Amino acid sequence: MRIAPGVEMLELVAEGFGGRSVLHPTLVYDENEAVLIDTGMPGHWDEIEEAMDELHVPISRLKAVILTHQDLDHIGSLPEVVIAKKDIEVLAHRLDRPYIEGDIPLLKTNLSVMKTFIKTMQQEHADEMRRLCENLPKAPVTRVVEDGEVLPYCGGMEILHTPGHTPGHISIYLQKSRVLVAGDAMICVHGKIEGPVKRTTPDLTSAYSSIRRFMRPDIDSVICYHGGAAVGEPKAQIEHLMKELKV
Ligand SMILES: [Zn+2]
Repeated sequence: MRIAPGVEMLELVAEGFGGRSVLHPTLVYDENEAVLIDTGMPGHWDEIEEAMDELHVPISRLKAVILTHQDLDHIGSLPEVVIAKKDIEVLAHRLDRPYIEGDIPLLKTNLSVMKTFIKTMQQEHADEMRRLCENLPKAPVTRVVEDGEVLPYCGGMEILHTPGHTPGHISIYLQKSRVLVAGDAMICVHGKIEGPVKRTTPDLTSAYSSIRRFMRPDIDSVICYHGGAAVGEPKAQIEHLMKELKV
């Protein structure tokens, strides 16, 4: 779905974890370069490639992948991306880097955390989950990004460190199209912006103060990884959300 010229919100269906959900990586591109923000679950790369094909964006144009954070549904296809495009830059925040690189197990998807959950699953799903936890996706982060940094890609991408959902969670503001890619700092439900999912956000206090970073006059559209694009006036929605959450 086209959000603005050169900003495509992708739609990937993820099965598993006891349900079906739709994930929304963002592809930002112009005639010279393209950047993928988040990579879906393991096995999603083929669909991302297909979507790029339809947009006539060749893989040779893909310069970087930016990871909003370490969660499995965001880094899932990263190993496939770095195989498909060997010289690609992989960008993430310093605090989530060791998880993405596999030095420490992912905060939320690892064997010790998932043990009790796995016990409740059907055998076949339990085996799949165990296999996944033993082979978590990983790849080297070639460049760490800091809060306030502006990456030169596609007319400028401003990095906002928005911790809470994970310590190194970032959101990305696309300067040319005035689109905010919120990652999991917020979600969208039927086009309406809501706060982050409580169950999967270990530090809610930080997560709520991170939303304050989105109070700015220059946001025309918001893409949430879960739930997609906000419908209507995103600035008013963010303001309303802040009142609701009392931040
Ligand atoms: Zn997520």
